[in-house]
Amino acid sequence: MSKSQELFEQAKTLIPGGVNSPVRACLSVGVDPIFIDSARGSRLTTVDGDELVDFVMSWGPMLLGYGHPEVNAAAAAAAAKGTSFGAPCALEVEMAKAVVDAVPSIEMVRMVSSGTEATMSALRLARGYTGRSKVVKFMGNYHGHSDSFLASAGSGLATLSIPGTPGVPAETVAHTLLAPYNDLDAVKALFAAHGSDIAAVIVEPCAGNMGLVLPADGFLKGLRAVTEQYGALLIFDEVITGFRVSFGGAQKRFGITPDLTTLGKIIGGGYPVGCYGGKREIMERVAPSGDVYQAGTLSGNPVAMAAGLATLRLLEQADYGALERRTVKLVDEMTGLFMEKSVPVTVNTIASLFTVFFTREEITDFDSARKADGERYASFYRQMRANGVNLAPSGYECSFTSFAHTEEDYDHFLDAVSKVQF
Ligand code: PMP
Repeated sequence: MSKSQELFEQAKTLIPGGVNSPVRACLSVGVDPIFIDSARGSRLTTVDGDELVDFVMSWGPMLLGYGHPEVNAAAAAAAAKGTSFGAPCALEVEMAKAVVDAVPSIEMVRMVSSGTEATMSALRLARGYTGRSKVVKFMGNYHGHSDSFLASAGSGLATLSIPGTPGVPAETVAHTLLAPYNDLDAVKALFAAHGSDIAAVIVEPCAGNMGLVLPADGFLKGLRAVTEQYGALLIFDEVITGFRVSFGGAQKRFGITPDLTTLGKIIGGGYPVGCYGGKREIMERVAPSGDVYQAGTLSGNPVAMAAGLATLRLLEQADYGALERRTVKLVDEMTGLFMEKSVPVTVNTIASLFTVFFTREEITDFDSARKADGERYASFYRQMRANGVNLAPSGYECSFTSFAHTEEDYDHFLDAVSKVQF
């Protein structure tokens, strides 16, 4: 038995399903997870000493690659001065300034410790600010695991076919109104019926949790218009797209100004961080300047702030265009290889994100994403992993490239694709 298998067997007796986050269990791709010992650049080393070229990159945070020396040095220097104070520190001010400078719609920001906390808090603020209860959410979008968002959610719920979850009171999700992604008419109909009760529309501006699905022309602009018309807030959940789709996020790339934005992943440089921010007038309602309560013992943690700041400073200088062009080339070459084998495939991509859907149909929403061949994705995943490439272990997730990937890594990826047989 490999060390990975041994650890997994033991883990299953101690941790539900053997993992601390469901998708890691690799259930939908029909293999056991691999336990990781270390990671450097674009590569993972397993506890059995095998090396994999990684296209998950911790689900997004590692846009600079694993173990970047400047990020590590910044975190180590901060840790040497103290790992948590529970009192303000200068790094928090620097981080707030970096986020405000980078993200167009953010005038004030509050740090938290995960994407889940960021979206949960943004929704509470939207409800407090508007005095309304309902939220419009898109099917197949995932905004973390707080109660209000666990209706038709993507990511692990889509992977495991969980429509909702026990433990969430029906009264709570009754306030969550669902619309298909990219369907502006459906959103308008919800506003026509419930307009004066809707606090916010929350959206992944490029959806990454039903596989990658891009916003149709005019969709985000339409959401901005309809929310303004009814006095509801528009929340962009940029936990995946922030500092990735462009340095200023999807809002900068698409030229739309939301009222509130949530960020996570990259902003912590691999440490647990999230944040929510937006218009000053709205953010001033957060306690203690306002009456909407939200707090956190480890919020603004100095080690996480230092790693996140070092990451943002490096990314500010990074050539996003070059990485996107390299990713498109990879996707085109992969698509070509599948076409040679007459395998029907649609690959959605933007910036350093891509998802392989095994279907010839366009993927524009959760329904179309669900029509892709999941069995084939599972086989693809297993064969790629056997050939030293780690992809998202679910067809309902994105794969990620990074600034650390090399030509050798891309060649390795394509060589593995060329060996895939169905
Ligand atoms: N929003 C989006 C768009 C996400 O992709 C995720 C996690 N993948 C979250 C929120 C939740 O973030 P976390 O897992 O850090 O709680």
